[in-house]
Amino acid sequence: MAEKTLFQKIEAGEMEADIVYEDEQCFAFRDINPQAPVHILIVPRKLIRDLNDLEASDEPLVGHLFTGAQKLAADEGVGKGYRTVFNCGADAGQSVDHLHLHLLGGRKLDWPPG
Ligand code: 5GP
Repeated sequence: MAEKTLFQKIEAGEMEADIVYEDEQCFAFRDINPQAPVHILIVPRKLIRDLNDLEASDEPLVGHLFTGAQKLAADEGVGKGYRTVFNCGADAGQSVDHLHLHLLGGRKLDWPPG
């Protein structure tokens, strides 16, 4: 079997993380190096490496990640303004090869991002 991704180790409880949400399709935890007061990673249980590996059958799952972000933003008190980001590939700064949606909020977010 292929080696677990960092996020699969968190999912399995083999690595500590502050998990804030879980359901049958995804789990979410606080980023270890937060870039905003609220910085949560929402990760599908299905191993998809990045956006380029998405298949048409994954479309409901990706929508589910976004409705999860919406609920978490409300729960975290940042529903008035937050950002969701998928980094895809090294040039975009993706460092973990397991699809994850960043949820950032709790401060004024600049545009364009770096
Ligand atoms: P990427 O750069 O791939 O878009 O995002 C990966 C994110 O995972 C980074 O924001 C990084 O801080 C976070 N991260 C890396 N290792 C860990 C870890 O062990 N625990 C947690 N909670 N977050 C991590």
